[in-house]
Amino acid sequence: MSMTMNNRTPTTIDEADIPVWSHKPKTFPKKVKGPIRNLKWAVMAVLLAIYWGVPWFRFDRGPFAPDQAILIDLPGRKAYFLWFEIWPQEVYIVTGLLIVAAIGLFFVTAMLGRVWCGYACPQTVWTDLFMLVERWIEGDRAQRMKLDRAPFSMKKLGKRTAKFAAWAFIGMMTGGAWILYFNDAPTVVPELFTGEAGTAVYATVAFLTFSTFLMAGIARENVCTFMCPYARFQSAMFDQDTMVVSYHPARGEKRGKHKAGESWDGRGHCIDCRQCVDVCPTGIDIRDGLQMSCISCGLCVDACNSIMDKVGLPHGLISYDTERNIELKACGQKPKWNLLRLRTIGYGVVFALAGLGVLYALMARQPMDASVLADRNPLFVRLSNGDLRNGYTLKLLNKTPELHAVEIAAVGLTGAEVTVLGHETEAVPTVELAPDAVAAIRVFVRLPEADWKGSPLDFDFVVTDHGRNLTVSVPTRFEGPAK
Ligand code: SF4
Ligand code: SF4
Repeated sequence: MSMTMNNRTPTTIDEADIPVWSHKPKTFPKKVKGPIRNLKWAVMAVLLAIYWGVPWFRFDRGPFAPDQAILIDLPGRKAYFLWFEIWPQEVYIVTGLLIVAAIGLFFVTAMLGRVWCGYACPQTVWTDLFMLVERWIEGDRAQRMKLDRAPFSMKKLGKRTAKFAAWAFIGMMTGGAWILYFNDAPTVVPELFTGEAGTAVYATVAFLTFSTFLMAGIARENVCTFMCPYARFQSAMFDQDTMVVSYHPARGEKRGKHKAGESWDGRGHCIDCRQCVDVCPTGIDIRDGLQMSCISCGLCVDACNSIMDKVGLPHGLISYDTERNIELKACGQKPKWNLLRLRTIGYGVVFALAGLGVLYALMARQPMDASVLADRNPLFVRLSNGDLRNGYTLKLLNKTPELHAVEIAAVGLTGAEVTVLGHETEAVPTVELAPDAVAAIRVFVRLPEADWKGSPLDFDFVVTDHGRNLTVSVPTRFEGPAK
């Protein structure tokens, strides 16, 4: 399926007549009522409630971890999602989640077209909210157009000031909510107002206030049309069976004005009222065919259906439909829904596999982890009795909110003796790991001279937590002089 600027019959154009740049007219989307508009209000309310509400949910992780259900703790280098705590070493899980989300988006796009763009994209949601406020303050399309054309006056200044102030407030609330995902919400909110919050917090709020104002208030549909990369490449996911917002030309043409009581014979059902164009947030005419600027919001469907009600014709002159069905209906045949096709099955399988992979990574996640760094300078030390000693820094990660004691042993190195700095007197060194923390432990391994054969020896540090019946092994090497 190709996305074009329009599907009218191409005509020969002299290149000299094509302007290098042309001014895009301002859009003044008209208010529309209908089931799709109601659905969009509901989706917007739910998404905004999630965005502003989620940081306030608490989740008890014990005394040593934050109790915010979702928190990205940048200073602590951890992210908390309910039961899951992601450490920097586990960033692959976040990467996996992003991949799953991207494939899920491809799958939904192949099935339902740009529903993400039309209903759930933050640009759409915030633009809808900004336009709602604009309508409250400046009125509907005709009043806004009149106000825009009107010369400067105190009334115009008052309305514009009120609108911009309301937009700035929403922008500030948007930026203000964003920082709650990176800070303890009940702590940082009072700090924001008392001037005690950090510079980064104020800078983030200021930046997001400005960018929200700019994107949702000023740039609006231009973000979708000119800036969004997803709008560019998603046509690659479309085919003849992808659901898109479509005008049915076989039914609508030949369009023209219609007077009450006139016959519909010999003409199409489109009365050329342009309501579908007036309500469009991107200012396009869907009757020109599928276009890249169409975000599939469906508002033109509501607008046209309400016109069809007025003229006593069935709904569906503009509807969510597939290109194949439009052609079938034009030939008087029954529509066919082809949901299971190679493309959707492919995306579905990859989505399921990637999702299972991330789920497995989460389930197989160990509450304790270890890594080791052998001393390089010197590689080894010869003691006064001829024994050899290697030094290591063992990093132990306790990913749980409880204190745990672990034993450290060297396995696979016959005759070796392990000592831990600060625990020299213990036959089997036992160290305590603080909750939710990384411990860097100095460990020394001593090998009797008689056991050294002249070439490096591979062995494992084995860290055992008897309390949790948990063992972690980390491979390393013992070095000495060549023989
Ligand atoms: S709203 Fe319907 S009838 Fe009116 S111009 Fe658009 S397609 Fe034609
Ligand atoms: S053409 Fe219809 S579906 Fe597409 S953006 Fe405009 S109103 Fe929304």
